[in-house]
Amino acid sequence: MSEDEEELYRRLENPSRRSFLRLGLALPFLSASFLTPTSLLAASAVTPLKWSQPVRPTTKPKAPRLIVIDPGHGGHDPGAIGHSGTKEKHVALDIARHMARVLSKEEGITVKLTRDRDKFLSLKERVRIGRETHADMFFSIHADSAPNRRARGLSAYTLSEKASDKFASMLAEKENSADLIGGVELPSDDQDVADILCDLAARRTRNTAQRVKVGFIKGIGRRWRLLEEPMRAANFAVLRSPEVPAMLVETGFLSNKRDEALLSKKKSRHKIASLMAQEITFLLRSPLFG
Ligand SMILES: [Zn+2]
Repeated sequence: MSEDEEELYRRLENPSRRSFLRLGLALPFLSASFLTPTSLLAASAVTPLKWSQPVRPTTKPKAPRLIVIDPGHGGHDPGAIGHSGTKEKHVALDIARHMARVLSKEEGITVKLTRDRDKFLSLKERVRIGRETHADMFFSIHADSAPNRRARGLSAYTLSEKASDKFASMLAEKENSADLIGGVELPSDDQDVADILCDLAARRTRNTAQRVKVGFIKGIGRRWRLLEEPMRAANFAVLRSPEVPAMLVETGFLSNKRDEALLSKKKSRHKIASLMAQEITFLLRSPLFG
């Protein structure tokens, strides 16, 4: 050890000087936002520096996320029914439950199901659950049927005033007829202001949902069969919450023999549920959600 080094170590025995030097060493690693006077004051006030602990930049833990998973249909409303009698309401419930199991194991992610048994739930009630819980994401699960029996694969919908095609518009009518509400009522004191605020909030929510859909479909498409045009838009009542980004996934077509065979098997239902849960976990932790 050189004399200079000895001198340095001796000086470091003085705690205030040592803490100052340590802070100096740590400065390059601190982000600009962390270096505001208030944050430095707050940091020293709350957690006094201990000599034995190196000063390290703190990373803010990600905010906890809540996702509402909504198994479509239920009770007296079976949804689509396949050739072999597979009912959409059962497929959706089993996939949703498995997704919830997988997602609940993820740190910082909480899941709420709109229904966890075979019961009827109005579309209004489903939307209400998403809004009241202040969900970060609302995810509705369905399995479809189409006049074209060759149509198969997974697709995802986000809200659009204009349906992406004629078929999507027919489907929206069918899904919306589950109960007879035209739309979701918004609370307002002053109707004009409320309308503008809601419009802005709704636009932002729709943009987030749209980007989630793109990420989700791209991710799922690497490991699961998709419909030819898998990114769709329709005016589903269940997607109309102005502040909760919402997506509706049609996991496959019960009108297609091969899709029905897949969706009637527990093993493949759980496979797609796990894949979707993984994609959602990734997206909830992405900058899309801050
Ligand atoms: Zn459905």
